[in-house]
Amino acid sequence: MTKYIFITGGVCSSLGKGIAASSLGCLLEHSGYKINLMKMDPYINVDPGTMSPYQHGEVYVTDDGTETDLDLGNYERFTSLSLSKLNSVTTGQIYREVIEKERRGDFLGKTVQVIPHITNEIKLRISKVAEQSMADIVIVEIGGTVGDIEGIPFLEAIRQFRLDVGQQNTLFIHLTLIPVVGASLEPKTKPTQHSVSKLREIGIMPDVILCRTSKELSQEMRGKISLFCNVEERAVIAALDIERSIYEVPSILAKGGLDEIVLEKLGLTRGKRDLSRWEQMVGQFIASTEVVNIAVAGKYTELHDAYKSIYEALAHGGIDNGVNVNIIKVKVESVKEEILEETFSGIHAILVPGGFGERGIEGKILTIKYARMNKVPLFGICLGMQCMVIEFARNVLGFENANSTEFDIETEHPVISLMEEQYEVVNLGGTMRLGAQPAILGEGTKSFDAYGSEKISERHRHRYEFTNKYREIMGSKGLIIAAKSPDDKLVEIIEYNDHPWGVGVQFHPEFKSKALNAHALFSSFIKAAVLFKSKAEEDNEVQGVQ
Ligand code: GLN
Repeated sequence: MTKYIFITGGVCSSLGKGIAASSLGCLLEHSGYKINLMKMDPYINVDPGTMSPYQHGEVYVTDDGTETDLDLGNYERFTSLSLSKLNSVTTGQIYREVIEKERRGDFLGKTVQVIPHITNEIKLRISKVAEQSMADIVIVEIGGTVGDIEGIPFLEAIRQFRLDVGQQNTLFIHLTLIPVVGASLEPKTKPTQHSVSKLREIGIMPDVILCRTSKELSQEMRGKISLFCNVEERAVIAALDIERSIYEVPSILAKGGLDEIVLEKLGLTRGKRDLSRWEQMVGQFIASTEVVNIAVAGKYTELHDAYKSIYEALAHGGIDNGVNVNIIKVKVESVKEEILEETFSGIHAILVPGGFGERGIEGKILTIKYARMNKVPLFGICLGMQCMVIEFARNVLGFENANSTEFDIETEHPVISLMEEQYEVVNLGGTMRLGAQPAILGEGTKSFDAYGSEKISERHRHRYEFTNKYREIMGSKGLIIAAKSPDDKLVEIIEYNDHPWGVGVQFHPEFKSKALNAHALFSSFIKAAVLFKSKAEEDNEVQGVQ
């Protein structure tokens, strides 16, 4: 019998529900349970694929090509899971499904309503994950904040779910905020009380309250929350702000007794939790003192969530190399030829991420030129790789107006162009080349060395590709085609031949990097940054002596 844990959020958004869900998943997995995680997003979009990163942060892509919420990225990074379309549910999907059923005549004779039709569909999606994953425990995160109008059907559905599968098989965790106010910085429990009473109005009684707080909770505070919220005192657990890394959260929650109480309440005899590998990884991260400066030259620099998986994958690469990665966000629109030296001084490697649209392209191309010519390690991802190709065509081959047809449909040298399969595509949602695709690596390349194997599978999200008629001429001038699709039709990786580490990939390796298993390319990239740094320091010393 599968057990279900529902995580809701109160008081305000951005308290770290996703990290809490992922951390609990991590703890339960390390106690030997087979777990699964799913996210329910109350917005009406079918998926976040058509939303701007400013609205939603990055779009995370699963192996099966689903464009999902970035929390699924956390779920995968904290656990051994590889998720699919089943794990991401939105109001848009639920309504679409119910309306399709109605049109088919499945509800013939009935009035179709939020209760029971919408709530049944939500419950069905939860049961499907349990069935298909055969997990011991399914953790369901409900997006948004209790009190939001659009979240109500989801809360109603999980209330009913407890009745359907039994109290002993379900657990409700509510994450709230304990703000500190006034000159005395006094922690306050009132918002938590209000939030829980809102939840109770719907008929949900939380079993555990996780309190996001900057200070330890005093006995008195716990007692107060317990009394007013009708939750056992030991089930009021502090989710303390972290100091260094989100990967500390599982240990913090374990110390607060979260997994112990969760398992006890679910009637699961506790497997022996062995967090040693995880804690060793976090310890390594905290202990490393050497720092490498990595510039991420993108468009959405103000918004950390826009390149979330990239930042995390860089951190994983750092852990793997025993160094700390200091990320410098460079806004590509401000990159100008005259200030290139200044912009990148002290930088040990540059990453150019993916994206859509023309804004910032010329800054990306200038950045790439700087990295290529100054032999600074360079990692181009998706659009970043495409810009590497454009830069190479313009500045090495001398094709002055070379471009991608995404930005200049009439260009004389369309070195990047629309994939054939995209010609007839009209709808924008879910229609790119998406998800896991195989590629074959060329021996003797940096990528082959990094992966240590010839065959790889990586996740994609693009419409444009390297234009094959330029393969030969680019190759003759030093642009190596390091990986191709098995049918030889699509270029998957390019590399500079005369450069310490210049690699561009058409896919998104960042989506497959895990805290306990850094992605091979990110690890290799950070290694190149460490080498670049030590060489730069040596050069400085020599100059100092002379
Ligand atoms: N805009 C480019 C394309 O569609 C790159 C996409 C990306 O970086 N994810 O091919």
